[in-house]
Amino acid sequence: MEREAERQAMIIEQLERRNVRDARVLKAMAAVPRHRFVPSALNQQAYADNALPIAEQQTISQPFMVAFMAEALMLRGNERVLEVGTGSGYAAAVLSLLAAEVWTIERFRSLAEAAAARLRAEGYTNIHVGIGDGTAGWPEHAPYDAITVAAAGPRVPQSLVAQLAPGGRLVIPIGSRDEQQLVRVVRTPSGFEQETLGPVRFVPLVGEEAWAEDDPPQNESSGA
Ligand code: SAM
Repeated sequence: MEREAERQAMIIEQLERRNVRDARVLKAMAAVPRHRFVPSALNQQAYADNALPIAEQQTISQPFMVAFMAEALMLRGNERVLEVGTGSGYAAAVLSLLAAEVWTIERFRSLAEAAAARLRAEGYTNIHVGIGDGTAGWPEHAPYDAITVAAAGPRVPQSLVAQLAPGGRLVIPIGSRDEQQLVRVVRTPSGFEQETLGPVRFVPLVGEEAWAEDDPPQNESSGA
């Protein structure tokens, strides 16, 4: 398949070297043609070790961050997954190879429509793209076995926690506008367990249960 050597190098140098170990995640990262999800002017940089700008001043996340978050969701193949922050659709494509069905929601109509068209053209049939404020989740299709949020908020949105199935995992960057920690919340029989997975840097999560639209913009994101 096109640009396979670049994807293999990405897997060895960016993912395995940083301890991404889940064989299913590595296989999915090898299968998704990232170069078809980046703006054409940045095509040559598609497999670089960083986030890249897309439209609406947003980003396609760094490959390592996509793989690290997917691994943190502990997917086995039969899950219903919600992604908040569709962006280019790249992470949704990776997740669709790791789970049964993916719902992904994006606040910018232009990004959501472009991602939906791209995913259709690439032949993904188990991804549903929605437009709206993902801090409210996507209640019509809840509960989810896994929820991943590709933008950073000041706190864990309670609507997302409420849409987790028993045993469900939510992975979300939480912190200030400039730096955050990746947090995993697991729904256990007795309540919720929360752990911190490490420092990250994402574009802001803008919505009812996150930052307001008119909060001052942050610096350019490096990680996501
Ligand atoms: N997963 C994307 C990819 O693979 O290209 C990267 C997403 S980018 C780092 C974060 C995205 O979250 C942006 O497209 C942004 O518009 C979106 N976003 C921010 N707040 C949101 C919200 N409340 N609901 C839905 N999308 C949101």
